[in-house]
Amino acid sequence: MKLTWQPYTLEFKHPFRIAHGVRNTTPVVFTRIEQDGFTGYGEASMPPYLGESHDSVLAFLKQVQLESINGLFDPDEVMQTVDAIAEGNAAAKASVDIALHDLLGKMKGKPLYELFGADPASAPCTSFTIGMDDTEMILQKVEEAQGYPILKVKLGGGDDIHILETIRSVTDKPLSVDANQGWNNKEEALEMIYRMKDMQVTFVEQPFSKNRFGDHAWLTERSPLPVIADESCQRLSDIARCAGSFHGINIKLMKCTGLSEARKMIGEAQKRNLKILIGCMSETSCAVSAAAALTPFANWADLDGPLLIKNNVFNGVDLDKGKIRLSALPGTGAVLNSPVFGT
Ligand code: MG
Repeated sequence: MKLTWQPYTLEFKHPFRIAHGVRNTTPVVFTRIEQDGFTGYGEASMPPYLGESHDSVLAFLKQVQLESINGLFDPDEVMQTVDAIAEGNAAAKASVDIALHDLLGKMKGKPLYELFGADPASAPCTSFTIGMDDTEMILQKVEEAQGYPILKVKLGGGDDIHILETIRSVTDKPLSVDANQGWNNKEEALEMIYRMKDMQVTFVEQPFSKNRFGDHAWLTERSPLPVIADESCQRLSDIARCAGSFHGINIKLMKCTGLSEARKMIGEAQKRNLKILIGCMSETSCAVSAAAALTPFANWADLDGPLLIKNNVFNGVDLDKGKIRLSALPGTGAVLNSPVFGT
């Protein structure tokens, strides 16, 4: 099989604000794996905090040797070899993994959810993210999210309760909350979570910085709402440590190297009675269609990446009104709608 790639830049509809900065664009790399007349597409999305870039992804992809693989293949086996090339590089690895799964589905003529034994009717609704902003912009974003039944609110900037009160003044939709490692004091965090429970918040993601497992365990033991690990849980090997410290985990393909490992994480989380959220970075419908095939196994989904960008160069999973409708097309169901590969 033959692997090629194309660096690309996604543009956000709104500047993307988190506690430590603002971004208008995000780098991605699209991959393409061709074999026997079939083409699988993948994507790496690199949020700055994980340390990957166009350069690092390209340098990694140059080391991936797939030429000797012919005919049908086991993506888990191929990904073991890819994972062993170098430490880290999770998004670069995910771009290969997604393209491999897309290719395999196309070669077998089956959508991914069918290969995974997932029932598409069990897919939950995706949340729509309301990023940090001033009151006026937050109200505008809530207005823009009108068609989506669940909101996910980015917090951790110091005026969290005010932001929630602002949103609650205009909508009674279910809300989840992502503190993005922004809280420091555990007693204050617990008090805040009790207030959030009164505001019908569903769950709270990543309260403290990622290595504070003891403080997360303290909070999880006392919290009236589920506490979910995001930054604290990157890969399969992190789950054992998270099991005692959180109620659940946020699985993202760009953190965990792709679908092969994500499926193992789902199995491990189920075994340990952890709740499962399937999330994404800023991604097109390429990577998000792959992640969406896992959502029938999840309690919640946060796959609004394609809804927040201007240049979604793939058509894929239908997220209309927040409902995840998986494509019945073979593979991920993502279809390139723009000549990003120059052909
Ligand atoms: Mg998060």
